[in-house]
Amino acid sequence: MKGLRMKRILVLSIMFLAASAAFCQETAKPNFVVISLDTFRADRLQAYGSKKSPAPNLDAFAKEAAVYVNSMTPSPVTLPAHGTLLTGCFPEKTGLFDNGVGVLSPGVKTMAEVLRESGYDTRAFIAADVLKARFGLSRGFAVYDDQVGSAKRRFGFQITDMAVAYMHGGKKGPFFLWAHYFDTHQPYLTPEDPPESVDGRYDRAVSYVDAQVKRLLDAVPPNTFVFIVSDHGEGLGDHGELTHGLLLYQPTVSVVVMAKGPGLKPSISKGFRSLADIAPTIYGKAGIQVPGLDGYPLDSEEKRSVPLSVLLPLNEYRWKPLFGASDGRYKWIRGDKTRLFDISGDPGETADISAMAPGEARKLKSLMSSYEAIRGRIDLASFSGLGYLTGTPSKDTQIDKMPDPESMLGVFRGIDEVKTLRENDKFADSVVRLRELVKKDPGNPSLLFALGDSLRHVDQLDEAVRWLDESLKFSPALVPAWISKALALLGKERKEEAILSLEKALAHDPDSIEAVNILAAACLDLDRPEKAFPLIENAIARGLADTDTYLMQGRIHLFQKKYEAAAGDFEKALLHSLDPRATRKAISDKYLLYGYEDYGLRYLNASVAMYPDYAPYYLTLGAFHIARENYPAALQFFEKALSCPMKDEDRKNVTEIVDELKKGIEMERNQK
Ligand SMILES: [Zn+2]
Repeated sequence: MKGLRMKRILVLSIMFLAASAAFCQETAKPNFVVISLDTFRADRLQAYGSKKSPAPNLDAFAKEAAVYVNSMTPSPVTLPAHGTLLTGCFPEKTGLFDNGVGVLSPGVKTMAEVLRESGYDTRAFIAADVLKARFGLSRGFAVYDDQVGSAKRRFGFQITDMAVAYMHGGKKGPFFLWAHYFDTHQPYLTPEDPPESVDGRYDRAVSYVDAQVKRLLDAVPPNTFVFIVSDHGEGLGDHGELTHGLLLYQPTVSVVVMAKGPGLKPSISKGFRSLADIAPTIYGKAGIQVPGLDGYPLDSEEKRSVPLSVLLPLNEYRWKPLFGASDGRYKWIRGDKTRLFDISGDPGETADISAMAPGEARKLKSLMSSYEAIRGRIDLASFSGLGYLTGTPSKDTQIDKMPDPESMLGVFRGIDEVKTLRENDKFADSVVRLRELVKKDPGNPSLLFALGDSLRHVDQLDEAVRWLDESLKFSPALVPAWISKALALLGKERKEEAILSLEKALAHDPDSIEAVNILAAACLDLDRPEKAFPLIENAIARGLADTDTYLMQGRIHLFQKKYEAAAGDFEKALLHSLDPRATRKAISDKYLLYGYEDYGLRYLNASVAMYPDYAPYYLTLGAFHIARENYPAALQFFEKALSCPMKDEDRKNVTEIVDELKKGIEMERNQK
């Protein structure tokens, strides 16, 4: 009896043990956090050779992490690099070779898909529109927050706020979280002033993102593996490249790869690794088998080689794409001529040693045979898709005739200069520079677009449309060119043509909220509310809406005499606004436009009380009184505007108005 009873207790206790072990295992599934730092140059961190690092928090993380100092991205371009990071497969399998082109191949799974099948909650917080859901990296994420709005990017603090809120947000099962930071991407803007001890705009952005990552790291719960990687680096003038996406040198293809988590010992490894190694590592830690990957777990010493490609020169500039391969010791780059660098002995890649290629490097070169395969797919995937090569006899001949990016560095530098001019509203200067550049490189759609768009900004609308059409001839999917052309046409009151142009933009990018907003406004102007309403409703329902969308909805409601609803829309517009002063001005304009004069004036006065130095309020009030022929009141407001900060050109115009008004009032007085 006693024996039997003991046996029963034993069986029960084993069952209990088994159950509790299963329970423990269930709750002990580790979380995974992947932090991708866009355009983050590896040598900004101490572990990667920085003498004066602007990133103390990332350095502190590195000291407690497994750090892989010889790591590479297969492409120095955001979408293909992240395609590899999220799947563990190189671009040949993901089908993602460039920004803005293609969708993740259905044949590969994202980490989010795999982990979700294993019971993980999956979240992504995205900081730039080049990673929008429509390119397929959103597959498997329960929430893929890519709401970057019309700014097309957002700051690190926004990403951190969302990630922290999620991690602090109550009890949950195991999770996989991907946070993407874009602050170190040109033009290196940050919302707050970084420490004065840091020199240079790029390093200040590094320092900003460092602080934001720290805030995220502080919220990470125990039993979590954290991976910090960069998608690619930044040229910063090395090899003549200021930014990235043109060449395949180390400053842009070398990346940060660091991992920290339960059981991982701090270490610095010089073994060759790539962005394809993150997914296999995570699968290993989660105990999931996924076949067909190109990468290996980070702690595996398996010998790796990484195929390199950059197609951005082809898609954006109609220059030759570059291909290559590296095994961590040597790197081949195939452009007009094929070069070989010993990246371990000559990290600056100064000497082409292809003439005396050692045996192992020759072996590596044979791996570049995938070059032809990729090249075959470019024509299918993107190139002919853009309609550029239609009717030409040989696609390859066309590519072969294009200039090698290496020989176009002067033009590329010019493109960067023009970018800066345009970002600083110096459109007239940019037109001068762009005319020179277009002469040097007349088949470059990006230059043709920039020239047309800059001309539009300086009101040379007919010529603007001509150049924009020219850019669209080379690149029919260039959405910004369709939008810019529409704006130029609207400026010429050619509304019907503008609407066609916007519909083209939306056919190529249905998520372009800018195109939606402008199209809806044009339809309203043409008294076609039946066309404008669904556009706006649809955009709001799909979560695309930005400040302008809500302003438009408010306008529609005022048009329908639904004042209460409009007021609600305007609240939402303000909530989304990055510039509340300007949004308040836009709101009062809408009231005045639709005959709600009292509301408009009250709103303007309230805005003046909040921002008394904002000239546009006084200009609106001045214009309002001119329309009512109350010239003395108008004069008062225009004079008040002059006491506020204002652009030189505007100041000139307002001064003229003030002088005219004074003269008119004087004459009237003399007549009496
Ligand atoms: Zn990037």
